[in-house]
Amino acid sequence: MCQRGFFDVPCIFPLPGVRDYRVGRYAQVPWRHRLVPVEARPCLSGACTPWSLSSACGARRRTVMRKEGMDRRAVLVIMSNSMLFHTQGIRGFDHRRWDWSGDTATAFVVRQSDRFRCSSCGSADVTATPVGERIVRGMPVGTKPFELNVRMHRLKCHHCDAYRMERLEFLPGPHSHITRALERTVIELRTEMSISAIAEYFRLDWRTVRNAEKEHLRRKYRSVNLHGVARIGIDEIHIGRSRYKTVVRDLVTGAVLHVGDGRGADALGNLSQRLTAAGAVVETVAMDMAAGYGAWAREALPNAAVVYDHFHLIKLMNEKLDRIRRRTVEELDDQQTAFLKKNGSCC
Ligand SMILES: [Zn+2]
Repeated sequence: MCQRGFFDVPCIFPLPGVRDYRVGRYAQVPWRHRLVPVEARPCLSGACTPWSLSSACGARRRTVMRKEGMDRRAVLVIMSNSMLFHTQGIRGFDHRRWDWSGDTATAFVVRQSDRFRCSSCGSADVTATPVGERIVRGMPVGTKPFELNVRMHRLKCHHCDAYRMERLEFLPGPHSHITRALERTVIELRTEMSISAIAEYFRLDWRTVRNAEKEHLRRKYRSVNLHGVARIGIDEIHIGRSRYKTVVRDLVTGAVLHVGDGRGADALGNLSQRLTAAGAVVETVAMDMAAGYGAWAREALPNAAVVYDHFHLIKLMNEKLDRIRRRTVEELDDQQTAFLKKNGSCC
């Protein structure tokens, strides 16, 4: 409806940082405003305090409203709902009002009455009881941070008798503090910016950015495709306080295939079953010389060749040579030690 009738309804949505211009045209694909200089006339909509509407625009808007049989409030709601969808990816909610005071733009929204669904069985036969509000951060609006004030409801399902809080589909997780749209932007920026830089840019807590990335990675790597894996490497990493993680990687693609707590065979969990289920034929297993990994490889992958990796071989060789050197030096008498110190390096 807004595509057809409200292109020329301007100024419903104030643009932070833009003054002396009003929205002259609103196009949806690609989403943009076309700005025209403001005319010094009083605003007709009552929703656009910093800007004014020309009488011509107001007349067009009134014509559209008359044709559609709508009142002014309905036009405002639909425009803002449309803005919420195209800027924040939020649908199924009615916009109630804006709050532009302070440093943050706040949109007060409530779910449309016919959009409540039971989160257990999906039934629409529910009774919704308002229980409070929830604040969620979304994509910035112009230069202003943006937050949603969502009226939350508790749902009583008459189909499965479950009591549930309503689930916000525009959030990436039930406990998320940011919308999917903002999370996607944060993840995209992480390849170029640090967590603290992103947090400062969007005026978020750095833990929010960190948690968003962790959730994204958890979802992305929840299931790893092991089909076609032929060469794997196993090693442990120290994560502090005598704690270790065992990491298994595909040596061809570099992909992380498995992360287990601790080190040794127990940390590899059900990796061999997963490899078998995926039809992977492992030809080579590279590892250090820890006995636990070797025993696991011989039992779980009897046809795979066990290769001790280059780093650990060189490290072991250097340690052996160092021990021989020290032992040899200890066996020298004073005259030989003095000669060695004078003519070459010594311990
Ligand atoms: Zn239900």
